[in-house]
Amino acid sequence: MSNPQDCIFCRIVRGQIPCRKIFEDDDVLAFHDIHPAAPVHFLIVPKRHLVNLYDADLREAALLGKMLGMSGELARQQGCDDGFRIVINNGRVGRQEVYHLHIHVMGGSEPLGSRGDAPAKE
Ligand code: AMP
Ligand code: ZN
Repeated sequence: MSNPQDCIFCRIVRGQIPCRKIFEDDDVLAFHDIHPAAPVHFLIVPKRHLVNLYDADLREAALLGKMLGMSGELARQQGCDDGFRIVINNGRVGRQEVYHLHIHVMGGSEPLGSRGDAPAKE
């Protein structure tokens, strides 16, 4: 687990690592994913370090609602005007790589691939 000192997304929020920014306000930052998995792929992150949805309980409902609530408009601005996909990976089983809560927003002009959410063979 990363802490805010060495967390890569905290460093992006602080401007210590560059990003291709889409949107920023006091609470959230949105930027393009460095390894896009779709023609349009960006991330929405809270500026405050939250690990994942285990860390973001109901006290964070307003923040989470804001992140989801802005996703449609940002997706449209990025060219996703006929649908998009939201993914939030949590923890080991969710294959979370960066332990700072983030929403993946993915889309493009054509339908995305299948969800690919089957568990690895046990
Ligand atoms: P995950 O934690 O698995 O939900 O995904 C983390 C995502 O962060 C991956 O899609 C990475 O490509 C992306 N990522 C990692 N480092 C950066 C960075 N410096 N700038 C933009 N995206 C990043
Ligand atoms: Zn962080």
